[in-house]
Amino acid sequence: MAKYSGAHCRKCRREGEKLFLKGDRCYTDKCAAERRNYAPGPHGQKKSKLSEYGLQLREKQKVKQIYGVLEKQFKRYFYMAKRMKGVTGSNLLQLLESRLDNVAYRSGFASNRRQARQLVNHGHFTVNGKKVNIPSYLVRPGDIIAIKESSRELVQDSISRVEHRGIPNWIEMDIKNLKGKILHLPTREEVALPVQEELIVELYSK
Ligand code: SF4
Repeated sequence: MAKYSGAHCRKCRREGEKLFLKGDRCYTDKCAAERRNYAPGPHGQKKSKLSEYGLQLREKQKVKQIYGVLEKQFKRYFYMAKRMKGVTGSNLLQLLESRLDNVAYRSGFASNRRQARQLVNHGHFTVNGKKVNIPSYLVRPGDIIAIKESSRELVQDSISRVEHRGIPNWIEMDIKNLKGKILHLPTREEVALPVQEELIVELYSK
């Protein structure tokens, strides 16, 4: 019998995609979304066609799960994105990517966003030399993200395995000194996620 691997894997199975919520396990053949490629629950293997609304809703849920953001905050990002210049869907993803917990994850300081969020919450990071313990803090181009000297040991394991995922080219990482510089905010192409953000825009525009 396949071993139950936790609620986070259920989220991937619900969305029918790997959302990489568990870090290193996601890159192994233990990934539940690969082993049991159907939705969880007694009716999970039944295929049903989603309505247009259902598709939009699932896409929004998927993005919320990926970034670990709750509905209220997600909606706030949407309206911020709408007020920005450019394409709302791309702006939305850029805002989510700019969160400090996401940047810590993308830089390789943590193997998943939950772990990154915990490290931020516990005050292990600095931005431009000042302690920041707010996971939703939005970074800006030129910002330097670093782990506090006394906390370096906490991230060594994750940093040593960063090749798995790679570091996006909008972050310049100095692995030796455990510092990352935000070169620019990511473009849509640089947010390498299989997301149809236009469905989310349609959902909130009703
Ligand atoms: Fe679990 Fe990661 Fe696979 Fe998702 S991608 S099912 S979180 S192991």
